[in-house]
Amino acid sequence: MNTIFGPVHSRRFGVSLGVDLSASHKQCNFDCLYCELAPASAMEHQQSVTPLETILNDLKEALQKHPDIDVITLTANGEPTMYPYLEPLIDQIDTIKGNIQTLILSNSACLSDQHVFDTLLKLDQVKLSLDAATPDVFKKIDRPAEGIEIDAIIDSITRFSQVFQGKLFIEILLVKGVNDAAEEIDALNHTLLGIRCERIDLGTIDRPPAYGVQGLDFSELYTLSQHFDPLLPIHIVSRTHASAIPSPYSEQEILTTLDKRPLTTEDIDALFDEQSKERLQNLISEGKIAQIERSNVIFFTPTQNIDRKRVK
Ligand code: SF4
Repeated sequence: MNTIFGPVHSRRFGVSLGVDLSASHKQCNFDCLYCELAPASAMEHQQSVTPLETILNDLKEALQKHPDIDVITLTANGEPTMYPYLEPLIDQIDTIKGNIQTLILSNSACLSDQHVFDTLLKLDQVKLSLDAATPDVFKKIDRPAEGIEIDAIIDSITRFSQVFQGKLFIEILLVKGVNDAAEEIDALNHTLLGIRCERIDLGTIDRPPAYGVQGLDFSELYTLSQHFDPLLPIHIVSRTHASAIPSPYSEQEILTTLDKRPLTTEDIDALFDEQSKERLQNLISEGKIAQIERSNVIFFTPTQNIDRKRVK
């Protein structure tokens, strides 16, 4: 059993070497409707634990073969923060990683445990999932183990965002008819305004899910993205960008659209026809539109919005 996979190239995080902290089978405190892994009842603790030495030896070997990576990504067939030796693992990785960044992809459920909270503070980058902001929708989409409550998760993400010195990313995965209603988006928006983060990735299902649920197409994601406060760094992550039909936008429409929500290069490619892209370039030359880079993603936004501050 090898606990290392990759390197894989991710546009959002660079060249990443993955470390699987539950390599034998799925062990998770959620049983999300959209999970890419087979359905499995949510559990509170890992029942099968990979020895720390095994993971470290696998990682050292992989780093010798692949020294030119950007990031070591801690992940799992399930939830990586359930791994009981996470803190010593991170401490050991810090002694061998050199300039490589460390990243964890977590469902956020264990963050209300103070030990996990303090352990994640040691990482360079943290990506936390937040699929819902209300208890009913949270239980419907993420199907957590007994005792895991969304209010505690939101509280811990908010506190974490205030003290974490690295880069924090939030990921929201939208499922048709489950967490895409206007009231839920409003609740998520309200919650996100209290969280300091580098970027909010808004995505949907793009691989076969564990249960019979459906994702949204790009235009639906795009419409929902406009319900979020324009000052939130929302980034649409969708393999279905290509399904959008590029349309003409006047200069004023471009300014109004970007005022509602900054768009990424991918969004522009999906939404704007060629003439509209030229108009966008003119607006950039005239200084009316600025480009902001946030962790490998370029956002286009009206220049006058750059100095506006988020309010909470
Ligand atoms: S948190 Fe991740 S691994 Fe766990 S059930 Fe949800 S999608 Fe699957």
